[in-house]
Amino acid sequence: MAFETLLSPLKVGNTTLKNRVMMGSMHTGLEEQPDGSSRLAAFYAERARGGVGLIVTGGFAPNAEGRVFEEGAELVSEEQLDFHRPLVKAVHDNGGKIALQILHTGRYGMLENCVAPSPITAPINFYRPKELTHDEILATIDDYVRCAKLAKKAGYDGVEIMGSEGYLINQFIAKCTNKRSDDWGGSFENRIRFALRIVERVREESGEDFLIIFRLSCLDLVEDGSSFEEVVELGQRVEKAGASLINTGIGWHEARIPTIGMMVPRAAFAWVTGKLRPHLNIPIVTSNRINDPNVAENLLRDGIADMVSMARPLLADENFVNKTAEGRTEEINTCIACNQACLDHLFQMKTATCLVNPRAGRETELNYKTAAKPKTIAVVGAGPAGMTAAYISAMRGHRVTLFDQRSVLGGQINYAVKIPGKQEFNEVLRYNRVMLAKYGVELKLGQAVDHETLISGNYDSVVLATGVRPRALELEGGDHAKVLSYLDVLDEECLVGQKVAVIGAGGIGIDVAHYLTAQTPFSGDVPEYLQGYGILDSEKALALRKPKKREVTVFQRSTDKIGKRLGKTTGWAHIQTLKSHGVQLLTGATYLKIDDAGLHVKVALKKGEEAQEIVMDVDNVIVAAGQEPRLDLEDSLREAGMEVHVIGGAKASLGLDAKTAIKDGAELAANL
Ligand code: FAD
Ligand code: SF4
Repeated sequence: MAFETLLSPLKVGNTTLKNRVMMGSMHTGLEEQPDGSSRLAAFYAERARGGVGLIVTGGFAPNAEGRVFEEGAELVSEEQLDFHRPLVKAVHDNGGKIALQILHTGRYGMLENCVAPSPITAPINFYRPKELTHDEILATIDDYVRCAKLAKKAGYDGVEIMGSEGYLINQFIAKCTNKRSDDWGGSFENRIRFALRIVERVREESGEDFLIIFRLSCLDLVEDGSSFEEVVELGQRVEKAGASLINTGIGWHEARIPTIGMMVPRAAFAWVTGKLRPHLNIPIVTSNRINDPNVAENLLRDGIADMVSMARPLLADENFVNKTAEGRTEEINTCIACNQACLDHLFQMKTATCLVNPRAGRETELNYKTAAKPKTIAVVGAGPAGMTAAYISAMRGHRVTLFDQRSVLGGQINYAVKIPGKQEFNEVLRYNRVMLAKYGVELKLGQAVDHETLISGNYDSVVLATGVRPRALELEGGDHAKVLSYLDVLDEECLVGQKVAVIGAGGIGIDVAHYLTAQTPFSGDVPEYLQGYGILDSEKALALRKPKKREVTVFQRSTDKIGKRLGKTTGWAHIQTLKSHGVQLLTGATYLKIDDAGLHVKVALKKGEEAQEIVMDVDNVIVAAGQEPRLDLEDSLREAGMEVHVIGGAKASLGLDAKTAIKDGAELAANL
């Protein structure tokens, strides 16, 4: 496919963007780091060089009450411009354009003194916001204007005013969060006044040439959110107030509908942008789960939007646009929407990076330079750790042979792709396959490697990326015919019965339960009648789903809430899905034995009840209770005097995931 539309220029106000790819706003955590300015400059410079038409920064608060948390980024004074100027320069020097996002969190701020139109605590916050007075509202508008003027002074090409995702402006607009009876609440006219005043004033004070993007919440996905008619009217009024570009926002942060997770189909929400576009005269940007240039091009060709916003896909591949333009789309390192290293990191107060691209956000420290002295390297194990180590080593100039006992590349990723909603992992397999071929890695698949092969190969270095094996169940009856490991199930080597107990509620246990009860995944096609108020809230959502196929109970030894160890931004959705499939989730279990009668276990069947010994009459007990490193070769190779490096699951199985495996592979390969 040619990408004429995606790569064609777009006139926005008095500015011409070189193409229709916007790098959507992403907070990286570097905004708050002492060396954040230089690191962000390097990060944005690579994306600008990579061809992006317009970059939007992570959010900066216009005042102290609007910060995300106590140390959160803000732009409130001239002194702070020293942080911003290098970023702007880096982007401009590399032929790009950049806008600063102004974000006031309102009741989402993790701050004791957070504020909101009405004092209603957000379900995702524990701080009760203080109700803004009339004068404070006027002062807050002034703060937005000050922030925009400072942005202009720093050299930014424009600002994005964050009016969606349930932040302050959205809180004024929606009835559910605005219970005021003064000029700023009550009627729709009053509720949108705050948004309109901000846009008008920013336009007045920043001049005609400054870009003003307004992020408009097109679907709130909460009870008593805006109706579509209100969204249209607000869009038109924001346009009149002086916005140059409307960007689509989907779902408040507190919404219980997945909007960006891997389980959401690509471009699932673009339809709402398409519905709004005919009502506007200024260009509109679509967003959410667009990670592929073909999808982006089709959306534009179909008249859904004028521009496409991709945030995480540009973390995953800084050269997304150039590769598209050069017809190298197969070489794009595709964002798989896992959130594991970007959003989940931010919730853990770590800086954002990317599961498939560990260099993201670390451009100043992790670089793949040409090797001073080419070596001959054997990599054993073609899971994510081994594939990454192999292609990056080869890219640096080493001669690399990659072995795997299986006849396919990918290791455990081949199991992940079987889980409903995790098919995006196929992109990891594709990308690595293409990279291994591009850099001439010799593949030796379908043969288990032994000590002799590695010794006789005269390799300068051996990388052991042999992964993990499932941990056996130490229990009476642990070898009963009913007992299967998660690999048995996912390999489809055996039939699984109707009634199943899963031992272990980590990521793999949850995935196996999902696999066994798979139903129609969430389609993203939000029924018309649910638009604008509490879409898919529990009962309504469940009624839309098909009945379950199997009876599955998941047990966990610890008394922690199930899902606690899953990713913050997606774990809840996985658990919600299992519940909707009728899966029973039980914690605090003591496993006693397994026999013909089933699984004997001591557990409380309901919250607050005493644990009791029961026999779960199940056809199968599936064990997903941890893994252990597979490291059969290390000692003998070291004894033979070989240089050995161990990465991925082979190094550490606790907390192992593809993120750690790929990071290990990349960091090792950068230094070999
Ligand atoms: P592996 O992927 O296990 O690869 C090791 C390879 O070494 C294997 O291919 C094996 O055949 C080969 N090998 C071993 N010994 C030899 C030998 N002697 N000779 C030749 N070859 C050998 N992670 C996430 O981050 N996110 C997810 O959503 C996710 N979902 C998952 C879902 C499922 C169902 C499963 C099973 C895993 C999931 N994972 C997920 C985990 C992730 O896939 C693993 O953590 C990751 O694959 C580990 O990478 P690795 O390269 O260390 O090992
Ligand atoms: Fe995409 Fe996952 Fe990377 Fe985030 S961590 S950018 S979701 S691939």
